Amino acid sequence: MTSDVLAAFDIATDHCLIGAHWQAPAGGGRLELINPSDGSTLCEIAAGGATDIDLAVAAARHAFEHDWGRTTALQRGRVLSRLGALVMAHIDTLARLEALDVGKPLAQARADVVALARYMEFYAGAADKLHGQTIPYQDGYTVYTLREPHGVTGHIVPWNYPMQIIGRSVGAALSTGNATVLKPAEEACLTALAFAALAREAGLPDGALNVVPGLGQDAGAALAGHRGIDHLSFTGSVNTGRLVQQAAGSNVVPVTLELGGKSPQVVFEDADLDAALPFLVGAGIQNAGQTCSASSRILVHRDVHARVRDMMAARYRELRAGPALDDLALGPLVSSRQKQIVETFLQQGGDLSVAARGEIATGAPAGGAYVAPHLFDDVPAGHPLAQSEIFGPVQVIIPFDDEAHAVEIANGTEYGLVAAVWTANGARQMRMAKALRAGQVFINNYGAGGGVELPFGGRGLSGHGREKGFEALYAFTSLKTVAAAHG
Ligand code: NAD
Repeated sequence: MTSDVLAAFDIATDHCLIGAHWQAPAGGGRLELINPSDGSTLCEIAAGGATDIDLAVAAARHAFEHDWGRTTALQRGRVLSRLGALVMAHIDTLARLEALDVGKPLAQARADVVALARYMEFYAGAADKLHGQTIPYQDGYTVYTLREPHGVTGHIVPWNYPMQIIGRSVGAALSTGNATVLKPAEEACLTALAFAALAREAGLPDGALNVVPGLGQDAGAALAGHRGIDHLSFTGSVNTGRLVQQAAGSNVVPVTLELGGKSPQVVFEDADLDAALPFLVGAGIQNAGQTCSASSRILVHRDVHARVRDMMAARYRELRAGPALDDLALGPLVSSRQKQIVETFLQQGGDLSVAARGEIATGAPAGGAYVAPHLFDDVPAGHPLAQSEIFGPVQVIIPFDDEAHAVEIANGTEYGLVAAVWTANGARQMRMAKALRAGQVFINNYGAGGGVELPFGGRGLSGHGREKGFEALYAFTSLKTVAAAHG
């Protein structure tokens, strides 16, 4: 079935795209790609390395200097617009590919395809609306600013939302005229290859998008430390983010880091609990909890603690994890390694009260990387399960006494990615929005539908820099000030 799905894109999965050519990596290396729903081998992928990254960066440089970097904003917008339409035309195949590769339930994979297309539409439309400013200055001068592409941008992407993260990062970089080198994750790179094939079909010139799959310590490290890149966008774990920042820093290359999170939803006693419930649970178990902005901490005012716990517990008992194509609430985790990581965390919660757990669906293949979702109750704010990013379907409920206590707990981790507050009190909404340490704060919702228009990024260990929306266009451009003296 995988090969049927892949045939739609006419690509060999064990190739890299470098300039005009799909080619085997220089070292001939290959990696097995595993279907996490049953543990079977999906296909082989390229294990690219430093030589392939060198070639990809050179191809991107050529495209930047001779082709894509010389296009008008209008031309770039038109290519991205065609690409968005092509992505939507392939929604079924792209969604199946992502479901097989990541283990993501089909409906969630379809939502990712729609998001990828939306990024293309948004950055297509934005291309010719990004402009500099004029600056009132002394008599005798006209001063203005130009927003120019950096040149060659590197994009290191994780496995949990390949299409969305490629969309937001590569989309914004291409929109502003950069030529790109993409290193997808070794666990899930098929939609990156399919996207590249569609980009060529949309008319993106050779070298504007190069894709080199491979291991992080090989292809990823080579890209992060490459002297030929002018900007690096990294999404992944904190530890890798540190390495990548150091490598790019040694070349004084600007870096956007989108790392993890331990994002809270704060539920006050006056909240509309029925409206909150789908978000309280959904934001924790979406993509089996493997979401950087997953809401893994539910902070509840003591007056409604028992009620919220019981409502969430009832929902949890209905949750089933099964094969991605069965499209249940949860699929497997991305790999048996990730499953082990999450199970180790669950063992650390042995001293805690489990409010409820879901189930692994009857008949789910034994080789799949399934973990039943777990809801822990009354968890001390300093407990490892309330502090560490688990990256699995695990949520903790933490009761609080009052607003100040809620803020203290909410801000009491090293992360700061996303937060939500549920309350009918308008003044409290505003106070909380200011007090919460996060890159995004949601009031009486969580995620706002994931809008591509909404700038996104973290504080603290969640990273720095902003992607999505217009902010990404600023990040992927360099500002030049021009001062003309004319007497
Ligand atoms: P990871 O850091 O292991 O891998 C991410 C990417 O980095 C992969 O492509 C990998 O091959 C590459 N990589 C690994 N070692 C490298 C090295 N030494 N040099 C350069 N590149 C290297 O992370 P992961 O396990 O793939 O993803 C999970 C993490 O990503 C979680 O912590 C999650 O919160 C985070 N994440 C954050 C966001 C966000 O937007 N903030 C989005 C998705 C995932």
